[in-house]
Amino acid sequence: MELELYNSATIAAPGRLLDRSSGWSRVVLPVRFGLFEHPDLGLTLIDTGYGARCYGRGAKKSFGLWLYTQIFRADLQAAGQVQQILADKGKRPEDVQTVIVTHLHADHISELKSFTKARFIGSRQAYDVVSKAGSVRAALGHGSFLELLPPDYASRLDAIEELPTIALPYGLGTGRILVKDQVSIVPLEGHAVGHFGVYWHDRQTLYAVDAHWLLKGLSDREPMFGMSKSVASDVPAAEQSLDLLRGFQAAGGTVILCHDPGGCGFDVR
Ligand SMILES: [Zn+2]
Repeated sequence: MELELYNSATIAAPGRLLDRSSGWSRVVLPVRFGLFEHPDLGLTLIDTGYGARCYGRGAKKSFGLWLYTQIFRADLQAAGQVQQILADKGKRPEDVQTVIVTHLHADHISELKSFTKARFIGSRQAYDVVSKAGSVRAALGHGSFLELLPPDYASRLDAIEELPTIALPYGLGTGRILVKDQVSIVPLEGHAVGHFGVYWHDRQTLYAVDAHWLLKGLSDREPMFGMSKSVASDVPAAEQSLDLLRGFQAAGGTVILCHDPGGCGFDVR
């Protein structure tokens, strides 16, 4: 049941675009994904991180995805690839029963096609907006590459919008029940359409994924700027999500982010 986080790749971003007090030298950020096992959900992933479908040599890619990978260079971590982590545990991709898809950015869905037997927990709204936009506008306008989604994604999608609601503690607002009193979905709009986090009740811990790049961005209390602002689908909504996270932290909750460079208690590799 305990959440494990792995680092699939590193990305190097100019520090000044992440933190106003930082210089321009590049800061190395991880690209995490999560893994846990639960009696109700089975072997479960939270996103997939980056993998060979984005950055492998000879991977078949559209021009748009090729260009994206040229602009946003990532170094894959061989030992942290989702397929490798599963193999190390004696599991195959087909053994994964659930993939929680927090949003449709490439660094979260790169390896989704490996999981041919899984059901997906994700936002129907996100899928509808991105798929209606078509491949080019999805890529340019949403940073989402439809070619990375399995062709039957929509039919295997269990929409978070249809899960029962729950009033969450510590100012987290209305969430959706994934496993009653254990794991809940927390909408964190603004970074991408339908973006959400995953809350562990017993640990009072929220994996807030890409609500911000750095935990320091929460404590600084500055308006969004740089990379956080430029990728956000809805800046005012993203600011509201950050306020919700600050309130949660003030109430004693722990926030984890996908790309924060500091280690967290759930990092395994
Ligand atoms: Zn993202």
